[in-house]
Amino acid sequence: MPKRTTHTYSSEDALPEGPESDLFVYYCKHCASHVLITDTQLQKMPKRKTDKAHVLDKKKHLSRLNVKEAGNVLLKRGEGKHEKQFRMSCLGCGLFVCYRSEEELELAPFIYVVDGALSSVAAETNPHDAPVPPCITQLEGGLAQVAIEVEDRAQRSAVTSILC
Ligand SMILES: [Zn+2]
Repeated sequence: MPKRTTHTYSSEDALPEGPESDLFVYYCKHCASHVLITDTQLQKMPKRKTDKAHVLDKKKHLSRLNVKEAGNVLLKRGEGKHEKQFRMSCLGCGLFVCYRSEEELELAPFIYVVDGALSSVAAETNPHDAPVPPCITQLEGGLAQVAIEVEDRAQRSAVTSILC
């Protein structure tokens, strides 16, 4: 008699936001709240000479921000030069994380990411205080759930990747 196994999958098994492998997620270095999703890496972005902020070109790259407005400031940049910054801060802790030069976020051509404010979990954080990756979630009763990728009818049974 053939062995039967039953698998049940439901929409509850799917993550609300699916993993998008070509995207980079950046977290607040202070509280590890998710701040920015983009399709390039911070270290590949050009940097401003004035404050070493990373320059994210919104026309070339995706910029999905998860921030709150933090008012604007007028900075003096050398003789008779002023720069207006419309600041945005972390939703979790209020840390100033990025700014733009236009009041309307939609119209701003660039997002300036404050040097050292964000980190990608995989590369830069200390493993001891690294936040738990989003594929691992806590369920009620102290259970943990890990999202894994399953290839149906593959030749071998193996976990090929964990969706972090
Ligand atoms: Zn924060």
